[in-house]
Amino acid sequence: MREFQEKIIDDDILEKMTLENVFKIFNDNVFPMLNQEEQEYCRELQSFCIDLDPKIDKSKDVYELFPELGKHGYMQRINLWKDFKPYGMVKEILLATHISMLDPQLELARLASGILCGNPTFHYYKHGGTGDTIQKVQDELMSGEAIGCIGITEPGQGSDAVNMKTICKKTDEGDIIYNGEKVFTTNGPKADYFCTYGVYDPEHPRQTMVQAMIDKDFGVETKRLWIASVPRVHIAHTLINDIKIPKEYILADNGDGYKRLFEGLVPERLGIMGSGIGICWAGLIYGIIYTNLRRQFGQEVIKFEGVGFGLAELLSKCTAATSLALQAATIYDNKVLFADEVNKEAEKWVAGVSSQGKYYVSKLTHEVCYEVQQHAGGVSVTDNTPIDELMDTSKIEEVIGGARNIQLFIIQNQLRRYKKIL
Ligand SMILES: Cc1cc2nc3c(=O)[nH]c(=O)nc-3n(C[C@H](O)[C@H](O)[C@H](O)COP(=O)(O)OP(=O)(O)OC[C@H]3O[C@@H](n4cnc5c(N)ncnc54)[C@H](O)[C@@H]3O)c2cc1C
Repeated sequence: MREFQEKIIDDDILEKMTLENVFKIFNDNVFPMLNQEEQEYCRELQSFCIDLDPKIDKSKDVYELFPELGKHGYMQRINLWKDFKPYGMVKEILLATHISMLDPQLELARLASGILCGNPTFHYYKHGGTGDTIQKVQDELMSGEAIGCIGITEPGQGSDAVNMKTICKKTDEGDIIYNGEKVFTTNGPKADYFCTYGVYDPEHPRQTMVQAMIDKDFGVETKRLWIASVPRVHIAHTLINDIKIPKEYILADNGDGYKRLFEGLVPERLGIMGSGIGICWAGLIYGIIYTNLRRQFGQEVIKFEGVGFGLAELLSKCTAATSLALQAATIYDNKVLFADEVNKEAEKWVAGVSSQGKYYVSKLTHEVCYEVQQHAGGVSVTDNTPIDELMDTSKIEEVIGGARNIQLFIIQNQLRRYKKIL
């Protein structure tokens, strides 16, 4: 049983607010959308989460849980690592959904390490990278023994990230010296590896962008930013002063870094949809359980239309969001990730829909958690239910991976192009 600062929730209700019950209601709503293999994969994830749940100490950082994820190949599931199957974007969405339902802060840190830092190591070999240096980094990240992060955002370059100011300089030996500053580096203060972008020429960032893996031992300095809504995740101001990166750590040089940045953004945004779907379902289901059991004026509060109709509306939105995430991920798997040949039309569609989905789902996490707290009442803003932690984490979902307006900016660019086909 969880420990609380002070318990006021009724024992009869508390004993029903379990992850097992959350999964029962989730399965009832989501399993009909899944095939046999996906259902089986979810059952494995659920038994893993139910085993891990009592071992999670919410007063501690999330990082000690990484090796537990790594043992089961759960640091990411987009790419095949060792023989952990099944894999692909649908499996990644389902993984993210379940880890969010288990522990939304763990999910935030996992996504940053496994996907944002891990994915570039897979892209490196996919594009002809050689040697075993990056393989070693990948194995450490995927096993959860090492912690990774990504450095794109800078103090002066947030949404306008492409025009970054971190400067690269090539040495005669082919190594690169990095100088710059990054902010909001999720996992940064704890990280062993920093997948970091810089440019040779800030006047021509697209043509000269570099993506490189920086080992913390090369001399990166981090200072923790205090973000109260996710206290168990460490987020950094990262200082990169004259850091020499040996050539075997360069993932994509001289303009190829720009292509990899965009190659990474689509799976990243689809992945964030998975994290968001988990927050939505967990917030809603804990609300459904609680309001089915809490009685006022002689009846369960869900029977008051003000509560029941509100939850019904949220359920409709959660189902729609889940259906969108699964459909987008299925198309990404079939037409991009596992496709024999490049399908430009599908790639373009998925890039657009990843922004639409990221925009819609991350905003929905906030709406669901906030509304559930209003429907469930006072206890849901205390630590007696997991809803308030979900609410706090939802705040981060909308800004990480590109703020709301940047998703809308990308979406409206597509709308403007329609003039050409009129
Ligand atoms: C908790 C957290 C974790 C993060 N993790 C990482 C990470 O691991 N690695 C990393 O590199 N970055 C990370 N980020 C950075 C995140 O991606 C940026 O915060 C985001 O890109 C927005 O940049 P900004 O915060 O500087 O806002 P700004 O770009 O300064 O934007 C301020 C406001 O202006 C709006 N705006 C900006 N440009 C436009 C425009 N053209 N049209 C309309 N509106 C516009 C924005 O939507 C926003 O509302 C993280 C951020 C947070 C808060």
